[in-house]
Amino acid sequence: MSIQFKSITELNELLDNKAISVLELTQESIQLAKKYSELNCFVTLNEENSSNRASAIDRDQKNTSLLSGIPLAQKDLFCTEGLRTTCSSKILSNFIPPYTATVVEKLEDAGSITIGKTNMDEFAMGSSNETSFFGSVHNPWKKGFVPGGSSGGSAAAVAAGIVPAATGTDTGGSIRQPAAHCGITGLKPTYGRISRWGMIAFASSLDQAGPLARSAEDCAILLNSMSGYDSKDTTSLNSDVPNFLENINQSIKGKKIGIIKEFDLSDLDTEVQKRFDESKKAYENLGAEFIEVSLPNISASVPTYYSIAPAECSSNLSRYDGVRFGHRAENTDDLNDLYIKSRSEGFGDEVKRRILIGTYALSAGYYDAYYKKAQQVRRLIKNDFDQVFKSIDLLMTPTSPYTAFKFESKGTQNPVELYLEDLFTISSNLAGLPAISIPHGQVNSLPVGLQLIGNFLREDELLNAAHVFQQNSDFHHAKPNLENFK
Ligand code: GLN
Repeated sequence: MSIQFKSITELNELLDNKAISVLELTQESIQLAKKYSELNCFVTLNEENSSNRASAIDRDQKNTSLLSGIPLAQKDLFCTEGLRTTCSSKILSNFIPPYTATVVEKLEDAGSITIGKTNMDEFAMGSSNETSFFGSVHNPWKKGFVPGGSSGGSAAAVAAGIVPAATGTDTGGSIRQPAAHCGITGLKPTYGRISRWGMIAFASSLDQAGPLARSAEDCAILLNSMSGYDSKDTTSLNSDVPNFLENINQSIKGKKIGIIKEFDLSDLDTEVQKRFDESKKAYENLGAEFIEVSLPNISASVPTYYSIAPAECSSNLSRYDGVRFGHRAENTDDLNDLYIKSRSEGFGDEVKRRILIGTYALSAGYYDAYYKKAQQVRRLIKNDFDQVFKSIDLLMTPTSPYTAFKFESKGTQNPVELYLEDLFTISSNLAGLPAISIPHGQVNSLPVGLQLIGNFLREDELLNAAHVFQQNSDFHHAKPNLENFK
């Protein structure tokens, strides 16, 4: 019996009925990862360790948690003790962390098994997974097409049915956008809901970890384990964590969903637009009510993000100097030369571009004009959201303006073309709000995602609305044909 494409709930049933052991499940998941190695989802497989762990869980026979014995993949920016963690960068290509990120620890404490570390855009900078030092990830739906980024390896591994779920991080869309392009469900939680400790930083005020899975229900299972206060992360929220599974099946009758006036959807591909209109109808049939709302500053989201994120990254990435850890250049003349050569050799073009932009925006004389101004605009955007959430429960937008595209077809001449991929996703990071992407059909045999944005700490509303949609549709059950990846 194949475990490919099975959900967490289905795998739990197999484990409970003893139709499969944890060891068999883990090994089959690893075999699938190897069989589809051409997808390039994994940077490192955790073969021996995960088999040992699986055997221990089999011996223990204490399968109390829904994640017990479930194979998962972790984005390769979560530090894992003893297991190489690269951030898909040459500069960290030999880095073996001495500790494990809180998120991974929590998931493993719940009994899950980390089968490997997934490919991503270098330091999570990108929207197509093409900036990885380890090469591009293929979209399981179409060879030679991007899976979206930056959590592209995680999204592709779930979409190909190798693992039922995986972790990702989202600074400006990196969970939701690859989830949309790969036809799966991805949730970016409220900033602070999940600890960032042990998660390699890109832009600390925007980064947030979250789950990618085949359904909202499976995302809820992961979120239950991933969430919660962590004294090791000073931005971690000390607030109650509800059981996200418990209320996932409530009626959404009477819920008010906002449509953002400032997003001109008539600019979109007509088929993407059509899918959006049909899902709006589906929500109306489920009893939701749509209201047009205005977020007057939202059009400034992309430029605001591209001032703040590079500024924070230029500071965060200054620690990679070839001295303490990571790649070190050979044959250097002196310390300065060591820094320069190690960083020049270790970082890819996109990372260097961001460090340059960020250093410029933070430099004396430009700080007020760029960084401070961007922070002020960020506050205005956040205020707009606060205002609209007084009269609505959720916002709805497409996740991405397009479907997945061919390798090297976007952003090669002009990076801004690729930056606009995140037009719909970036604002919720700036405001710290939770948002989810769910699959809602296909255009030219490629998946399309629908985004719902929730109010502060209202992941329960998002998961509920996503689950009810999935209970009444089949889009999340669609599977790619993987014949071309053998
Ligand atoms: N695409 C955006 C960027 O390149 C967002 C990336 C992310 O969310 N990590 O910065």
